[in-house]
Amino acid sequence: MTVTFRCPRCEQTVKATLTPMMTSLECPQCQATASVPEGAMSVGEAEGKDQVAPSQKGRRASSHWQLHRCLVCPSRDLFVRKDFPQRLGIAIVVVGFAGFLAANFFYLKYLAFGFLFATALIDVFLYFWVGEALVCYRCGAHYRGVEDLGDHAGFELETHERYRQMAARMAEAGVDRHEAKPEA
Ligand SMILES: [Zn+2]
Ligand SMILES: [Zn+2]
Repeated sequence: MTVTFRCPRCEQTVKATLTPMMTSLECPQCQATASVPEGAMSVGEAEGKDQVAPSQKGRRASSHWQLHRCLVCPSRDLFVRKDFPQRLGIAIVVVGFAGFLAANFFYLKYLAFGFLFATALIDVFLYFWVGEALVCYRCGAHYRGVEDLGDHAGFELETHERYRQMAARMAEAGVDRHEAKPEA
């Protein structure tokens, strides 16, 4: 599992690799360390759930490595989103549309629609192919390669709004330099 976050000290966006047993998170840029909040991660069988069939008990425990809190801020509110590289998504649409326009210009109607169709198809394919990431509502940290998404749900506007307002109040009071600005 890796985390991409904005370091509170040097304010760079950095990426770090996580291990289940780690007790502190170090910024690769400025070497600032922050201790991992208690109970932030758990490794082992999913608690209280029937996710583990008896026959699977012998599997490596790390296959149930869950993240319960953000290691950076340490909020408990994380949401699941498709880890779709947005630039790639936009690039595909732009190329597809350019192809459509070019084909149209040369009166190649079938080719034009072929471009549109291919673009849509690639998007659908990518959607199913890409993995899922956990994102922190509060600080926008991205967790990739999460093995077990646990109880985390998809994006909720209500929760996002709550954090946004909290961040706005804090900024007003000059308390926190972190802005709870989740990446779009
Ligand atoms: Zn740093
Ligand atoms: Zn966070």
